[in-house]
Amino acid sequence: MRGTTSERLNNDDPVTDRRVAVPSARPDDVALSVRGLIKRYGDRTAVDGLDLDLRRGEILALLGPNGAGKTTTVEICEGFVTRDAGTVEVLGLDPRTDNDQLRRRIGVMLQGGGAYPGARAEEMLRLVAAYSDDPIDPDWLLEALGLSGVRRTSFRRLSGGQQQRLSLACAIVGRPELVFLDEPTAGLDAHARLVVWELVDRLRADGVSVLLTTHLMDEAEELADQVVIIDSGRCVGAGTPADLTRRGAENELRFTAPRALDLTSLQTTLPSGYRCSESTPGNYLIAGQVTPAVIATLTAWCAEIDVLVTDLRVETRSLEDVFLDLTGRALRA
Ligand code: ATP
Repeated sequence: MRGTTSERLNNDDPVTDRRVAVPSARPDDVALSVRGLIKRYGDRTAVDGLDLDLRRGEILALLGPNGAGKTTTVEICEGFVTRDAGTVEVLGLDPRTDNDQLRRRIGVMLQGGGAYPGARAEEMLRLVAAYSDDPIDPDWLLEALGLSGVRRTSFRRLSGGQQQRLSLACAIVGRPELVFLDEPTAGLDAHARLVVWELVDRLRADGVSVLLTTHLMDEAEELADQVVIIDSGRCVGAGTPADLTRRGAENELRFTAPRALDLTSLQTTLPSGYRCSESTPGNYLIAGQVTPAVIATLTAWCAEIDVLVTDLRVETRSLEDVFLDLTGRALRA
């Protein structure tokens, strides 16, 4: 691959040059709405009353352990699996009844090469591109995803990571309005994962909506505007990654400064209920809800007494911690 990913994606790339056309889209338009979704397989309830909202131009991540119901949910939205109850609207259409109309407007990652596992990588991508009036340039996409060297290799002979990237290319080559990505970076190495992340980020910048599933915290934190954490088919937590990781972790502000500061005046400046202490020499803790005003109070106090803070941090949790708190189990058991 030539150049860095950013260079490749930023310089005259066809994704940006010919931006995805979503003529009537307003930023607040709904791309996908799911209410009370239920899917049962025999005695097992795979999806158990799920609600989802995805706005146009945003990325929603479904995060959950194996068997949580992520793939089932995505496949219902794609129109491949029928639901037992609930409503699903994808770009204002019902995937159960409006499948043909929807197919042209959504992007789906084909598993196992779809119907053409014997087709060469380039052929396959060009075939999918041919269904679109305004496809992304397949050559550019192969290059951007590091697949130029295997363009003449059949899908079944590609490595797992190459198959994964080609499936992603097929999902987006038609400039869909909404893309479903089921674990888009599963099995990819760190570099390939970064390439995919940058491409997904670029899609969002072009106004494409993305529903993705992942087990990976860093993927959800990096890409998603909204995260829905699901476990046993139910939503156990939802919000922006920042909201989810901040919740419950916003009660400690720590800073490092010269030892043995007299904290009396800081204590009196802060609202009642906050406690300042020097937990170990030179390491200080303000216990109480951390707000922008509290941080401003601290820094103003430091300026007043002419003290330089060398480290200032609000304790935050990872999505992994959040999942553990919500379910009592680790995400990848
Ligand atoms: P993973 O991360 O492992 O892909 P997931 O969150 O995508 O898991 P699903 O694949 O949606 O979970 O599966 C949800 C539940 O439904 C699981 O218990 C699974 O065994 C069951 N299930 C899924 N598809 C079927 C099927 N076709 N027949 C019977 N059970 C199924």
